[in-house]
Amino acid sequence: QVKAQPTDMSAVIERAAGMIQPRMEDKAILLNLQLEPVEVLGDPDRLIQVMMNLLANALTYSASETTVEVHLFKEQEEAVIRVKDQGIGVETSEIGRLFERFYRVDRARSRNSGGTGLGLSIVKHLVEAHHGKITVDSEVGVGTTFTIYLPLAS
Ligand code: ATP
Ligand code: MG
Repeated sequence: QVKAQPTDMSAVIERAAGMIQPRMEDKAILLNLQLEPVEVLGDPDRLIQVMMNLLANALTYSASETTVEVHLFKEQEEAVIRVKDQGIGVETSEIGRLFERFYRVDRARSRNSGGTGLGLSIVKHLVEAHHGKITVDSEVGVGTTFTIYLPLAS
C-alpha cells in the first residue's frame, strides 16, 4: 500500500507542520524547521502520516514553552529526518518497546492524553515499507529524538 515516487520531503514536512502548528501554538511550543531540499523515494500521503504521528507525540509529551525541532538533510546517500523534543523523555528500559502495538509508557501518566498506543507501530511499519529505518534516543526529563533514514529519489 506504499506507492513510492520521487517526493519533495521538505514539502511533506512543511505540510505536516502546517497542520499541527495551531495545536503547537495553543500549547506555546515553538516548532523550528531546519530543512534542506531533499527528494526521497516515497509515498507522500504515508510520509505525512509518519510526520504527523511523530509531531503529535512531540506535542503530547512536551511541556509548554519548549521547542520541537525538525531537521532534514542528506547523509551518505540517505535522507535523514530528525524530530527532537524537550519533553518528558522515556526510560532506557522502555525504549525497546516503544514501537510495539498498544504499548504506552506508564499507562496512568498517559491515560489523559487519549491515545491508543498505535502511532509509533504504524510509523515503524510505514518507514520499513519504504525500505527505511527509524531510531530513537531519549533521556528522561531532557527529551526525545526520533531519526528516520529514507532512500533518496536518485
Ligand atoms: P497514539 O496511538 O494516539 O499515537 P500514543 O501516543 O500513546 O497513542 P505511540 O505514538 O505509539 O502511542 O507512542 C507510544 C508511547 O511512547 C506513548 O504512549 C508514550 O508513552 C511514548 N512516547 C512516544 N513519543 C514520545 C515522545 N516524543 N516523548 C516521550 N514519550 C513518547
Ligand atoms: Mg502517538
